Amino acid sequence: MKEFLTSHSILILGNMLTFVSEMKDLELLAKYLLLPRNVVLLSHRNPDGDAIGSCLALSYFLQSKGHVSKVILPSEYPLAFEWMHQSNQILIYDLNPLDSEKAVEAADLIICLDFNSLDRIDKLGLKVLASSAPKIMIDHHLDPEPFADLVFSEVEMSSTCEIVYHLITGLNQSKLLQKEIIESLYTGIMTDTGSFHHNTSDRIFEILADFKRQGLNDSNIQELVLNSQPDKYLQLLGHCLHNRMELFPEQGFGLIYLTKDDYKNYDIRRGDTEGIINYLMMLKSIRVGALVMNQPSIVKLSMRSKAEFSVQKICRENFNGGGHRNASGGYSKLNLEDTLRKLKEVMGVLKTVNS
Ligand code: 5GP
Ligand code: MN
Repeated sequence: MKEFLTSHSILILGNMLTFVSEMKDLELLAKYLLLPRNVVLLSHRNPDGDAIGSCLALSYFLQSKGHVSKVILPSEYPLAFEWMHQSNQILIYDLNPLDSEKAVEAADLIICLDFNSLDRIDKLGLKVLASSAPKIMIDHHLDPEPFADLVFSEVEMSSTCEIVYHLITGLNQSKLLQKEIIESLYTGIMTDTGSFHHNTSDRIFEILADFKRQGLNDSNIQELVLNSQPDKYLQLLGHCLHNRMELFPEQGFGLIYLTKDDYKNYDIRRGDTEGIINYLMMLKSIRVGALVMNQPSIVKLSMRSKAEFSVQKICRENFNGGGHRNASGGYSKLNLEDTLRKLKEVMGVLKTVNS
């Protein structure tokens, strides 16, 4: 709904920065939460720390306000997030489609976090569309689709977790920011900023200070999320860098691809390819990087860029996807070889390929 699309403002109250995504939106949110509800919280396929963190944090908050809540994700989350509070209660559509669909049907409030187009939740998108329950979108990606009744679309925010923090404090509920919520929100802010490497702001460090004052053990969470890879991770990384990387320094472009055999040989599962694309971006000569993965039914693309170059535009226009200017994703129904050819054409490097 266009009238709900917000232009937010920042109020400085005492020492704290308080986000107000237009007072009327917060008032509407408060109204939706006035009576106990049966809430379903949804996030996107291949959930990352921000998707899981924002769902679990808001879900826990809603429970402490007397609501019944259920988190549903289309596909499994990486093992690195298994320690998160209530992660074991998440419904995974791929594993449990009937219960997931029933839960959406039974909901009288649906909250969509960290995605802004219904194709990001696969078949669940149709159930959301069919539901007469009010829908709330809380997200920070570009180009939101108008499917929700109340929209908190804040593209300047580092993460959906950052928005959730501002919503909870904006509702004057800071006292309910308990350990479980703080740890989940921290996880999403940390992962979406690449451990505070990009998309930082004074707001984020204010939030971290608030979390620290309340006893957050941030090093422990960094350890749990970042330093918990199985041994095969480095073997896979070595393989990617040695055998699967193509660099086009003249055009500032680099890619890494993974074949179906790679998936088999390295027993690649959810979360195992996390972070690999960042190695491309360590090179001075690279402005745009891509990781192209030959998954069972699609070829999945992850893209990253530096400075003004928009991979969101590349993914949106060529690969059915989107995201942020410097971090986006998409997919192709072509085979791996044709997808790579298309990507190289789009990036203007095909002439340098010896094929
Ligand atoms: P990643 O490359 O880490 O999977 O995703 C980077 C960003 O792009 C994330 O914000 C993610 O939500 C978004 N993204 C990844 N894949 C897709 C996709 O297929 N469609 C859209 N719209 N966004 C995507
Ligand atoms: Mn996010």
